[in-house]
Amino acid sequence: MRLYIAGKNDTFETIAKQYQIDVELLRMVNTHILHHHTSIAGATIRIPDGSEGVTSGTTFSCPPVDPTPYLNNWIPLASLQQMAETEYDVLIIGSGIGGGAALWRLCEHWSSTGMKIGVIEKGGLLLQTHSWNVPTLNSSRAARLFANPAVSTPIGLTLPQFSGAREVYSLGGRTQFWGAVTPRLQRHEIANWPISPEELTAYYNIAESVMTVSNGYSKDSSMTESVLNRLWANGFTEAVNSPLAVNMNPTKYGKILSSAVFSSIDFFAKALNTAPFDLAVNTYATRIVTEGNRVIGVQAANPDKKNFFLRARSVILAASALQTPRLLLHSGIPGRAIGHYLTNHSMVVTNGSIPTASFPEVQGTLAILLPSTSKNHYQVQIQGPEPYYWYHDMTKELQNDGMLNFFGGFGTVESRFENEVYLDYSCKDEHGVPGIAVNFSYSAKDQAIIEQIKSNIPIIALAAGIQLTGSMGKPDLCLLAPGYDFHESGTCRMGDDPNTSAANRYGQIHGISGLYVAGNSVLPSIGAANPTLTAAAMAIRTADYLSENMSRI
Ligand SMILES: Cc1cc2nc3c(=O)[nH]c(=O)nc-3n(C[C@H](O)[C@H](O)[C@H](O)COP(=O)(O)OP(=O)(O)OC[C@H]3O[C@@H](n4cnc5c(N)ncnc54)[C@H](O)[C@@H]3O)c2cc1C
Repeated sequence: MRLYIAGKNDTFETIAKQYQIDVELLRMVNTHILHHHTSIAGATIRIPDGSEGVTSGTTFSCPPVDPTPYLNNWIPLASLQQMAETEYDVLIIGSGIGGGAALWRLCEHWSSTGMKIGVIEKGGLLLQTHSWNVPTLNSSRAARLFANPAVSTPIGLTLPQFSGAREVYSLGGRTQFWGAVTPRLQRHEIANWPISPEELTAYYNIAESVMTVSNGYSKDSSMTESVLNRLWANGFTEAVNSPLAVNMNPTKYGKILSSAVFSSIDFFAKALNTAPFDLAVNTYATRIVTEGNRVIGVQAANPDKKNFFLRARSVILAASALQTPRLLLHSGIPGRAIGHYLTNHSMVVTNGSIPTASFPEVQGTLAILLPSTSKNHYQVQIQGPEPYYWYHDMTKELQNDGMLNFFGGFGTVESRFENEVYLDYSCKDEHGVPGIAVNFSYSAKDQAIIEQIKSNIPIIALAAGIQLTGSMGKPDLCLLAPGYDFHESGTCRMGDDPNTSAANRYGQIHGISGLYVAGNSVLPSIGAANPTLTAAAMAIRTADYLSENMSRI
């Protein structure tokens, strides 16, 4: 390769003629010159080997540096217009835990297969990571950021029976703010599932590994150790160090990741380093399009409200337990159970403090979980101390008593047909998609569990040495409004019977080939355990099924 400095009247054509080379070849090796049709006078032109001519400059000089195609964001984005030109093998809607986990797994399977994966997400790029990883956000500041209606949408304001619900429309969905508490469902909680406990265990293992779930976060803390000992001594033998999706693993280069908390954005980062995929944000899926009994694509709108049709051989709908059934119902997808069996956790909260005088040394982080048992159908979490729970710079002893930042119980809620999300045609959004309404109530059995939590939390507090201070401006204990747990699930649940389930055991909508659901909506039940680990495990399983059953035609 030689270099030539273009003269005043030179063009690519004249230079190609002069060196008797193909003009397209000349252009190809000179992509650093952006505007082929404007003057190239003075530009350094690369002359491919084998051509005759005069070189200019010295062979010691570096070749001209190509203008680097720069990124506008930390993650490459595609426009909806560009995506409309591709037929996707799998198109994922939503980038929360369901969408993120499915994407990661598909990219693992299809790293060099040429299979085409696309993702569309309604929201934009709110945070580049999980909120607790931002050093300025300790527990209370992160909670206040989350409370901002511009950050999380208080959708429950129009849902009187589910008034605590909030959505986060942005890349990562609600996992940007989640608490990362990641217990498995207990055996007695999956008795009615369409898959075996052994298979679920295998997928828990995969999900825990990729989400770096461990009980190490509070392992060395003297506060956690002492409180656990008190609980065990008082008969609460089920209490454990809380499992958290926090990367505590040392690498061979040192402990570089110990403060990172998993969010679905981690899934995107991992996927990005494995296989190419297209991602469009600020892109609203407005309709699932089917032909006969198979999915053929998705209609979606960009921020300018322009509609595009995205062709797809398969679609994974992971838009949350409230939005996923909305889109299916609006698209006329048949299924008696779609939108029904809405479940959540009844959430009884209090707060308290722990006298620190009784601890021998720097106290550390308190993270304890009491899982449900076959007798007690609720889970209790004890977390603190504020403000160091997440920003655990605990090199000094606490001056005052340790205030908890969460102390409460999640009660099991029955999956009942009458608890449902349905379309509210009286209010349509700007794209003509009807809003949602919710019918929701706690059954007599749910109420009995709520009473059980209410009477047992003070006993647990006494055993743990916690002084109750009350919560949300209320004394002692209070029951939060339904939806406030943010664990809503089950509205497109898996099962073998299309009468009582929306999707089959692999997450495929009954009777519609190529259309899958992922995320909390697909879970048949959630017992008393925080649901996100289970949703990730199931999304990974759906991706495995898809990759086994699809190949490039
Ligand atoms: C403060 C807080 C703390 C929490 N703590 C925990 C915890 O400790 N442990 C736990 O297990 N869970 C916790 N959760 C719950 C957890 O965040 C959810 O279980 C999980 O995020 C659900 O994942 P998802 O994929 O189903 O839905 P989401 O995370 O809600 O993701 C859905 C995505 O779909 C997008 N979307 C919606 N509609 C459309 C559309 N039409 N077109 C395109 N995109 C669309 C949304 O913008 C969103 O990004 C917590 C939640 C909150 C808010």
